[in-house]
Parts: sequence; structure tokens; C-alpha cells
Amino acid sequence: MTRFRVGATSDTGRVRSNNEDSKLVSEGLYAVADGMGGHKGGEVASALAVETLSSTVTTPTRDALIEAVHVANRAVFERASESAELRGMGTTLCAIALVDSELEPDTQEIAWVNVGDSRIYLFRDGDLVQLSTDHSLVEDLRRDGQLTDEEAAIHPQRNIVTRALGIDEDVSVDSSTVVPYTGDRFLLCSDGLFDEISTDQITATLRRLADPADAASELVRQANEHGGRDNVTCVVVDIVDDDDRAAAASAALAGDPRSSVVEPRTDGQRDGLAVGDPDATRLQGRVAPSGGDDLPFGRHTDDVYSDLERAKGRHITWRVVAFVVALLAVAGVAVVAINYYATRTYYVDFSAEEVTIFQGQPGGVLFVDPSVSERTGLRRRDLTEAERQAVDEQPSFGNLADARSFTNNLQVRVEERTAPTTTATTTITAPVSTAAPGPGTTTPTTVHSTTATTATTATTVPSTTTPTSPP
Ligand code: MG
Repeated sequence: MTRFRVGATSDTGRVRSNNEDSKLVSEGLYAVADGMGGHKGGEVASALAVETLSSTVTTPTRDALIEAVHVANRAVFERASESAELRGMGTTLCAIALVDSELEPDTQEIAWVNVGDSRIYLFRDGDLVQLSTDHSLVEDLRRDGQLTDEEAAIHPQRNIVTRALGIDEDVSVDSSTVVPYTGDRFLLCSDGLFDEISTDQITATLRRLADPADAASELVRQANEHGGRDNVTCVVVDIVDDDDRAAAASAALAGDPRSSVVEPRTDGQRDGLAVGDPDATRLQGRVAPSGGDDLPFGRHTDDVYSDLERAKGRHITWRVVAFVVALLAVAGVAVVAINYYATRTYYVDFSAEEVTIFQGQPGGVLFVDPSVSERTGLRRRDLTEAERQAVDEQPSFGNLADARSFTNNLQVRVEERTAPTTTATTTITAPVSTAAPGPGTTTPTTVHSTTATTATTATTVPSTTTPTSPP
């Protein structure tokens, strides 16, 4: 029998006047919802979502859990459409539940579901892994390579969600399962936590405090200490008895903390990764089982060694080890070489209408995609047709300095085109507005405000530009 110990804390924070977060703690079912909407909308939406989830999950299966999220979505959607005051309300919802395994009879596992930007983490063997994917604008940009992790963490629009309950009649639900082991700790939380404190701080606190109630309230305290700008909710769920799965599996598992984590259902499965591919190592054991595997609870440990072991009748000879080591070494060298080849050059292209320096090769090389190196602030509309064509050709450079001199050159040409007209009109309007009537009579305020800057910039503008300015 899988058993839990749970601690949960929810707090309004130090800025908001009401708490729009809701949490659910019932035996084997735990959830966090973060409501949004004017007046009482947010509170109503999040409370309705967790209440509906709680009353709808009647059978312990992942499908029932997913279906309950759909029911909760419709409940919030219908309530929002019934009342003008609640119109437009919505909520995030993340939850975990103890369910029957879909693949192994008489086995239980943890199913999780997520919609929105609240998070589900798994803390195992001292490491924190985010199981859910944020449905937020910032996460989309981060995944596209348009924001780094650091930029995403402090982005001013990081509270814009791209998926929520109550917005539409139907909603897409992320979900997967995890085989739980004694010592595992699940953390469900609203964005009021991770917007205020870092993943490292969360990890350190989960390591330090063994009691889940202490951990939950300490995390909320830290979020408030760092600003408490949003409602903050933490539910910490510890696995205190796993039916002896850990003991049975310890021999089979290589010790990867994520080895029993299955890829989310709505995310694309990643199969066929080459040996030595860093992603292959990272994802090893995270892909869905292929079936017919008789390892005890090791249905996700499809690694090279166990396959070889069984192929050789459970004896690994030194020849096999040497062969595998050689194979990995060759693959490793290949990965390094491909990575070097794919990232040693730079090219210039438009990214969302902005002239941008990319590191890598246009279109990428095998598994290495180009990444944004520098943005220039130059827009497509600032360029002439010929300059646009030059950028559209994705010119390539051996190093960053050369790519920069290309974009700097563009910058100078754009400035040369715009500088004479703006500086010239202001230098001229001052005398003209008093001397003669004409198109130069602009409002006095603009003349005053610009003359100060014109006086200084005019000295840097070459004298040849002034005579060309009169219309
Ligand atoms: Mg929030």
C-alpha cells in the first residue's frame, strides 16, 4: 500500500488583498489551482476547479483524473457564462493522484495532470525535476530560444498563461505517470512561489526540512520574504511507503533520479535518439515502455547495458564492456565534432522582423539548432529593399566580430538616412519659424525641447549634411 505524508500552506502574500489560489489535500489526490478574473472571479474559479476535481475522480486511473479536469473545465466555463460578474474568470489546475498502473497489474503509480502555469515538481535523491510544462507565453519564448532561463525567470509578462480552465468549452490537458518510491517528494505550487524564489532555493529547502508541513510553510515564508507579490500555495506530498518497490527496483535502476518518469502524453515522444546524444542520456529511461519487459519495476530502464546483459545470458564479459566503451567514445567524439561544426559560425537573419545575429548554421545541423546570439534593434522596415535582400540571404561569418561589423554597417546606414532629416529640421526650424512662414513652423514646445539636444548632436554631424536639408 502506497502511503503519503502531506503538508500544505496557502497565503495571500504581502501585496494582494485576497487569495485566489485553492488547494486540495485528500487521501491520494492533491491539487493546486491559481484563479484569475476580476471581483471574486479568481477565487470562485480556483475553488470550483478543485471541488469538481475532488468530487469527480471516483476511480483510481489516469484517464479518470484527466476526465475530471475536463469536467472541472466545463464547470468553470459554465459558471463564468452564467454571471456577468464572473465572466472571463479562469484558473490553472495541477494535480497528482495515486492510480492503478496502466501497464502492470496490481501496481500503483502517481498520475499527474496540468493546465496552466502552476507547477508539479518531483524531488528525488536530492534533485528537483519539474514534471509539468508551464503553459505560459514566457515558456513558449524560452523553448523557442528567444529567452534564456534567466531572462524568462524575471520577464515582466511571465504571468500570461496560454492555457487555463474556464476559457473555452474544451481544454487540452498534459498528463503522465511516475512510479513512486519511498523518499520521493512531490511539490505542487502556484507561480507565487517560483516567481519569488529560485529553483536552487526550493531544492535547498526541500533537502533541509524533512517534515512536509515544515517544508510547505517555510517555502511560503521565503516567497513572502522575497516580495510576496502574488498569492502563494505549496502542497508537499511525501511517499512514506511504496510497497517495497524501491528495494525491488534498486538493483534494476542505474540511479537516474528521473528513470521512472514518463514523458508527458501531450508532448511529442522522442524516440530513436543516437547513442551519445546528450538528449539521449538525459532522456534515457524517460520514454514510454515498449512492452514485454520483465524487469521488476524497471519498465523504463531500456538502457544499453541491461539489453546487452540479457543478450549475453546475464554475463557481461570484458569484451562487451570494451566494445561498449569504444562505441560510446566514438559516438561522443562524433557529438563533439558535430556540435563544434554546427556552432562555430554565425549568420545574420531576421527574427520576428528584427535583424538578429545567430550562432550556428541556418536550419541547424542534425540535433544542433542555431541560437540567438545578439539582437540589434534594427527592424525590417528600417532597411532598404537591397539591405533586406542582403539579410534575407542569411550571410554567414567565421566569428562574432565579423557578424557584428555587418550589422553595425547596416546600423550606420540606417542612421545616416534618418539622422540628417531629424537634426536638420530642428536646426532649421529655430531660425525659420521666426523669419519666414512655411512648412517649418512647428509647435514651439518641440523646438525648445529639441534645440538643446540639437546643439550637441549638430557638432557631431558632418557639415556636409546641413546644406542638403532644405526642402
Ligand atoms: Mg499566481
